[in-house]
Amino acid sequence: MQKSDLAYNLPDGRIKCLACARGCILSEGQVGFCGVRKVIGGRLQLLVYGIVDAVHMDPIEKKPVMHYRPGSRIFSIGTTGCSWMCMYCQNFDLSQRRKVEGQSITPQEVVKAAMEYNADGIAFTYNEPTIFMEFARDVGIEAKKKGLFNVFVSNGYATPESVKMMGDFLDSITVDFKGNGERNFLRKYAGVPDPKPIFNTLEQIRDLGTVHIEITDLVVPEVGDNVDSARALVRWIYRELGRDTPVHFLRFHPDYKMNWLRATPISTLEEHWKIAKEEGLNYVYVGNVHGHKYENTYCPKCGTAVIERKGFDIVSWNLDESNRCLNCGNQIPIVGGLNRESLKISRFHEVNL
Ligand code: SF4
Repeated sequence: MQKSDLAYNLPDGRIKCLACARGCILSEGQVGFCGVRKVIGGRLQLLVYGIVDAVHMDPIEKKPVMHYRPGSRIFSIGTTGCSWMCMYCQNFDLSQRRKVEGQSITPQEVVKAAMEYNADGIAFTYNEPTIFMEFARDVGIEAKKKGLFNVFVSNGYATPESVKMMGDFLDSITVDFKGNGERNFLRKYAGVPDPKPIFNTLEQIRDLGTVHIEITDLVVPEVGDNVDSARALVRWIYRELGRDTPVHFLRFHPDYKMNWLRATPISTLEEHWKIAKEEGLNYVYVGNVHGHKYENTYCPKCGTAVIERKGFDIVSWNLDESNRCLNCGNQIPIVGGLNRESLKISRFHEVNL
């Protein structure tokens, strides 16, 4: 547990949490919606500071992050709790648990363990990292001192204060839209009152100018595959984040309270892919469909498959040392080259702390 740096004392004695856009206003003894922030002794405390409940070594492509240090090995951690309550969450055991549990570990120990496992970077993932922002920041700053990079996998439901904190340590973020970020979908299936803060957060992260951004959209069949809202989302991405922003349409798999739905038809994902390309986005992917041709990166100028993937594996790399297409010389916007050293060893690993 540690005192939160993302808190505002209201004149009436209550405290407003500034970590995420839910903006919980809490009195003494009350716990926020996420279950990990509580007012104790007149101060907002982060209950999961230094308590990790999920740790794995993953390929960076699993986040998914395709255009930042491809091939890297990522030491991935999460805590309990979440600012959303998605009815289809695949990590619901972690995210919807309202009991703080896990292994005690300091930021220095997280980084030491990551280095012992030969990680290239650290991901804050599995549950929403903005709810444990101060812990992520302290791990992240320590990680950067040791030459590691930091990745968030986030719902983007943040605040200007937490985005400012991201600027202290974050290198890459994948923001996960669900159901095209459509308001009614998010209200009904994720318990989110308004998607506007997600868009505000992305604009603020863009303005930091130091964080690589990728976007995912979980396409949920029957209730979240509205092509008009998909088109609206990709138009916003094009306008505000740029046509080179990687966008991933992810296949939904039935889980938790929405296990009565079917998995997203592949044709629906391909339709979303087509819409994004029609709207001018250069790097569009289909995710959670092993071996699909749209797992590959294609050169927007000549159509060559410049990076071929099978699932999270990179099976061919057709870019030169400056990330130019070997066929036509077009520059492909990828931060860092292929991490060939990390590809020599397994990128999936159970981690024992
Ligand atoms: S981080 Fe938790 S306590 Fe803070 S505003 Fe969000 S849900 Fe509420």
